Amino acid sequence: MALTEHQVIDALRPVIDPELHLSIVDLDMVRRVEIDGGLVAVTVALTVPGCPLRDEITRRVTAALETLDGVREVSVELTAMTPDELNAVRAKLAARAGGGRDPEAWESSAHGNGHSHAQPLGHEEGRPNPFGAGSRTRVIGISSGKGGVGKSSVTVNLAVTLTRAGHDVGLLDADVYGFSVPGMLGVDIEPRVVDDKMLPAEAHGVRCISMGFFVEEDQPVIWRGPMLHKALEQFLVDVDWGDPEFLLIDMPPGTGDVALSMAQYLPTSEVYVVTTPQPAARRVAQRSAYMAKKINLPLRGVIENMSWLVAPDGSHQPIFGEGGGAQLASELGVPLLGQIPLDPALRVGGDEGRPICATDPESATAQAFSRVAEALVARGRSRFFHPDLTLG
Ligand code: ADP
Repeated sequence: MALTEHQVIDALRPVIDPELHLSIVDLDMVRRVEIDGGLVAVTVALTVPGCPLRDEITRRVTAALETLDGVREVSVELTAMTPDELNAVRAKLAARAGGGRDPEAWESSAHGNGHSHAQPLGHEEGRPNPFGAGSRTRVIGISSGKGGVGKSSVTVNLAVTLTRAGHDVGLLDADVYGFSVPGMLGVDIEPRVVDDKMLPAEAHGVRCISMGFFVEEDQPVIWRGPMLHKALEQFLVDVDWGDPEFLLIDMPPGTGDVALSMAQYLPTSEVYVVTTPQPAARRVAQRSAYMAKKINLPLRGVIENMSWLVAPDGSHQPIFGEGGGAQLASELGVPLLGQIPLDPALRVGGDEGRPICATDPESATAQAFSRVAEALVARGRSRFFHPDLTLG
């Protein structure tokens, strides 16, 4: 049976624009479809002519069309949208920014229901907080008591694992002591500003914003509380996150200012603590846990990292001791979501921007992340809604 234009459009429907995170068909980017036997030629209109993601769009379109029966060859031509067409895209983005939420919760938060933190943020244009009460997004803060326990590695691999499991995931790097997330995730194209909205960078399907994108490399920056608070506000409000299911936040070790801001801006955040197996690390992690509790961010679980090294004979070598994660979890009265092995391949993947969960999903380490991700999903959203919190 001859291929129809209708089939071609249907095959292109799942193709997502890598920057705008909507279907290229819904964005009216598909212009011309020509079918000549097994040859299919399509023209796709981009939002900007020099779009850095031209190759990626071509790859996605070609891959989608090659799955159709009877297609022998695909040719993709790229063109640019006219100003009117761009306006139509902006209208679609604006509609999406307001959609996808529980309208009643949104309404009550906008009018103040006794939870002042759930009201729109006090931004000049009065933009609403996309992660306020009523948002569908589960905001997951990943914390640790001290640096070097693998918090960023865990956050990045968890984000990739959740994405691979079909979830829609945003990742905010707020670890002001070292912005390692873009490097570990392999982000090589920085976020772009379209009109007054910033489009997050994307790698391995994870949308990512790092405060590190906005500071000079190797320049020491002292982030004081109010500055951090403002930066976090901007990254929540001025970035087109697109209503993800999960927003993972790589928090600075020790908690403190970022936790305070999260408590205010992200009233539904949940915090998970990464620790290593030795008792000393547990005590440090405990401090960060108590801090989270003090400002009423619900602490919901522990993840143990560097739990063991797998020896050539397959045995588990507990290089950093044993039992720290389970003990901390029991002291805090929360579950231990899982244990991640000490794996040289994980470190190499982080250094090269090729997270192990993306490059080797069958490995024992990636499987351990899958179990943590499953436990996180199964844990469900926190019912805990902390009382008003006023920051001076
Ligand atoms: P943190 O965010 O807690 O400071 P990082 O994620 O930056 O920690 O990790 C510190 C170093 O340890 C990095 O070089 C990272 O690749 C490495 N690392 C983290 N977790 C593991 C692991 N499970 N196996 C091997 N190396 C790891």
